[in-house]
Amino acid sequence: MTADHSISQDKEGQALLSIVIPLFNEAGNLTKLYDELITVLPAIKLPWEIIFSDDGSQDSSWEEIELLHAKDHRVKGLRLSRNFGHQYALLAGLSCSRGDAVVSMDADLQHPPEMVPKLVAEWQNGNKIVHTNRLDPENISFAKKITSKLYYKVFSFLSGVKIGSGMADFRLLDRQVLNNVLCFQEEGLFFRGVVQWVGHKNTTLDYACRERFAGASKYTLGKMIKLARTGITSFSTVPLRIGIFIGIITSLLAFGEMVYAIAVKIFTDTATPGWASAVSIVSFLFGILFILLGIVGEYVGSILIEVRRRPRFLITEQVGIQNKIQDYRF
Ligand code: UDP
Ligand code: MG
Repeated sequence: MTADHSISQDKEGQALLSIVIPLFNEAGNLTKLYDELITVLPAIKLPWEIIFSDDGSQDSSWEEIELLHAKDHRVKGLRLSRNFGHQYALLAGLSCSRGDAVVSMDADLQHPPEMVPKLVAEWQNGNKIVHTNRLDPENISFAKKITSKLYYKVFSFLSGVKIGSGMADFRLLDRQVLNNVLCFQEEGLFFRGVVQWVGHKNTTLDYACRERFAGASKYTLGKMIKLARTGITSFSTVPLRIGIFIGIITSLLAFGEMVYAIAVKIFTDTATPGWASAVSIVSFLFGILFILLGIVGEYVGSILIEVRRRPRFLITEQVGIQNKIQDYRF
């Protein structure tokens, strides 16, 4: 990658803060977010840059970014050639950030801008990563609460990497950690897992999640399932081994049934159990077999995508960013 990851300091030798915001069709939120950020940022007493990473928006988000840049050159933007998904839009934005500390946050104002100075203060206290934990608002649906809790429990169990259900991609990373993360050249980069995996001194701040300011959620059910699947396949191979355990258990059961059938034949006059039980066992096992084949297929598919080594994002336009940005792995 051609972007310069060296620590960037302004003329007075002060550290620089980057705020990276991936977005998809968020035209109604950008000016409001910028206005709120510039009200809180003087508190950090550091120079800063805001990088909007437009994930192929079809509304006027890019025009908004250009207007904000024209008004304030500390606002920069890059535009992906299509919708590559939140994680890759975030990766693209992080790849061209130059700050000594980098905050990532959503564009819909659910991540409160007033938290940014608090994240920076924890960084100045020596933390290399400042995670955030969303305190679930009262209005969050029961189904969403339960599925997200359950998913992160299963994820932590399978991968051994602990992630809380309130941890989204709202956090601060020190430049050293970010450079570590940018070295991860894998397909399906799952930031939530990777930033836990890299270790380093860290802390977590709670925050009250706000209502989305304008528009509707851009995380469709399909995108959510894709993120959940990528998280598991990129962090754990345990699902591939489920077949071994099921195989052992079912062979033991089958062996028991065989012994039972022989014993019934030898020692009693009763006829051996009929076809109904045999059919139900066979169809049950076929069901399991197809599920396991599907799991293997998921992993084989991931390997195929990985070996193709296609870029994880492509940039079509950029404002305020001098270097030519491209995927770190090229
Ligand atoms: N986002 C993105 N690309 C996508 C989907 C979402 O860049 O394909 C951005 C979105 O604009 C927002 C952030 O990712 O800034 C989180 O998405 P959203 O707020 O829709 O998710 P939710 O909060 O509903 O889970
Ligand atoms: Mg949101």
